[in-house]
Parts: sequence; C-alpha cells; structure tokens
Amino acid sequence: MATNRTLTMIKPNAVQKGLVGAILEKIAASGFRIVALKMTQLTVDDAKKFYDVHEGKSFYEDLYTFMSSGPIVAAVLEKDNAVEDFRSLVGATDPAAAAEGTLRKLYADSKSRNAVHGSDSDDNARIESSFHFSRRELFV
Ligand code: ATP
Ligand code: MG
Repeated sequence: MATNRTLTMIKPNAVQKGLVGAILEKIAASGFRIVALKMTQLTVDDAKKFYDVHEGKSFYEDLYTFMSSGPIVAAVLEKDNAVEDFRSLVGATDPAAAAEGTLRKLYADSKSRNAVHGSDSDDNARIESSFHFSRRELFV
C-alpha cells in the first residue's frame, strides 16, 4: 500500500536563483501539504551519504560536490500516493526529457543541476525524512 509522505529538496541551483517561493507554490497548488520545512546546507559528507546509492558512478563526485555547494530547502510533503505523484510533478531526471509543466521542465538548468529532488520509494522517503528532520520537526 502506498504511504502518503515524500521528501523533497530544492537543490542549490534553484535556491541560488530565488526559486524557492515559486517551487513551494507549485507544490502546494498540486495538492501537497508541507509537514516539515527547513533551509540548510549539506556538508560534503552529508551529500555523499544522502546519495551513496550512486557511489562509484561517473557523476557521483559532481553530484555530492554540487549538492553541498550552497543552501538547499528540504521538506516533507503529504498527499495520497505522495512518492509517485511527486515524481510526476518533478519530471524526468534530464529536463530535456521532462514533460511540460513539471518542476524540472520549468526550473532545471541541466541533468546534473535539475532543481528538485524527490524520493523514489516509500522506504527511501522514510529514510530521507529521518536524514533531514527530527521527530519534533515533523508536524502531523
Ligand atoms: P533525485 O534523486 O535527485 O531526485 P533522480 O531520482 O531523478 O534525481 P537519480 O538517478 O536518483 O535521479 O540520480 C540522482 C541525481 O544524480 C540526479 O538528479 C542528477 O542530478 C544526477 N545524475 C543522475 N544521472 C546522471 C548522469 N547520467 N549524468 C549526470 N548527472 C546525473
Ligand atoms: Mg533519485
């Protein structure tokens, strides 16, 4: 059964370009409720750990360097079918392949600087939410 929470990060390129408000507005308008929210900056070790499933891949060093290069905004979002529906809203990894109206089509600079993260499974949504938020930072 699908759970109803997912974890997003607005990535450093989008924060740097002043897109936090526009992206949060799209998220809210798409029916997601924000249950946790913070601006923070990942250390290199944080970013390595968050994306450790990609360790050994050609883009891993660029990925963790970029993700720790500036502030991000992390949020836990609630909605029926949250993981799948949020991946649909985010769009394909490469913005050139992303559908019209998706966050990456609208706001990504490139495949590696693609503006927004979304969890890819319910298990990872839970792991990633715990990575960013303590229990008292989550509002039911
Ligand atoms: P995210 O996990 O950030 O939401 P995703 O699930 O669409 O993105 P993943 O396969 O998990 O894509 O890859 C994580 C991130 O690594 C991507 O968002 C992208 O920035 C980067 N990445 C993935 N594949 C490539 C690639 N072939 N070349 C460059 N960067 C890549
Ligand atoms: Mg992913």
